[in-house]
Amino acid sequence: MGRLDNKIAIITGGASGMGAAMAKLFAEEGATVIAADINEENLAKISELEHVEGMKLDVSSDENWSEVTKAVIDKYGCIDILINNAGISSEKGPDQISQADWTIMHNINAFGPFLGIKHASNYMKIAGKGSIVNTSSYTAIIGAGMNAYTASKGSLRAIARAAAAELGAFNIRVNTVFPGVIETPMTAKLSEAKEAMDMLVQATPMGRLGQPEEVANAILFLASDEASYITGAELVIDGGYSAR
Ligand code: NAD
Repeated sequence: MGRLDNKIAIITGGASGMGAAMAKLFAEEGATVIAADINEENLAKISELEHVEGMKLDVSSDENWSEVTKAVIDKYGCIDILINNAGISSEKGPDQISQADWTIMHNINAFGPFLGIKHASNYMKIAGKGSIVNTSSYTAIIGAGMNAYTASKGSLRAIARAAAAELGAFNIRVNTVFPGVIETPMTAKLSEAKEAMDMLVQATPMGRLGQPEEVANAILFLASDEASYITGAELVIDGGYSAR
């Protein structure tokens, strides 16, 4: 018995990092996974896993979301789980951010999850059930960088809370996780700045960075029926960084 037996799950950004860890774990737990990502090369690799199908999706495109959710319904009949995980980051500070930088960041990190919730919940409402989990960031809840990334992840936090309030009556749960620094391709660039990474590790009570599987495990719980009365929850996964 798997913890996600017979579930159909869409994972955005499912071709890399935490999304790929989730795709693998969810499939092992019995789900059929649609890894939806913009990176076709990585999609081809993740699709080699059993019970994982790659679908190309640009999360910032309303039209793309419409096509992908319809394709999933046509093929599998329902969407039980949506993980809004795709995202981009930038280390540009306040003096370097252009309006174009700001717009791209928000289109992908905030408008993207909003579109996912909009399209998936339309089908979930018909089914009378659904579970949505969003990947925000610890930067949305502590003073960690006044930049477009922080703002976009704070926006996602607000969108998720509003969605939890509006969709509860339809038996659709919406929860959000707030990872600290996790070792993925996104942070590989940061890892090169050894001094900054050492400082981060020192400031983390658990004394190390997180692994993608550690986030995937927490999201698995929130996505599954084990979390049947949990909605609007905000789970920090940061080795204690934000608790200091
Ligand atoms: P990653 O770069 O390994 O994976 C992100 C994935 O999103 C990639 O496969 C990429 O192709 C995809 N993507 C980017 N733009 C897209 C778009 N427009 N449409 C569809 N897919 C798109 O990074 P990761 O670290 O696994 O990040 C996953 C999520 O976790 C992101 O939302 C990120 O902001 C968030 N996060 C990461 C960390 C960290 O330390 N790694 C910390 C907190 C939050």
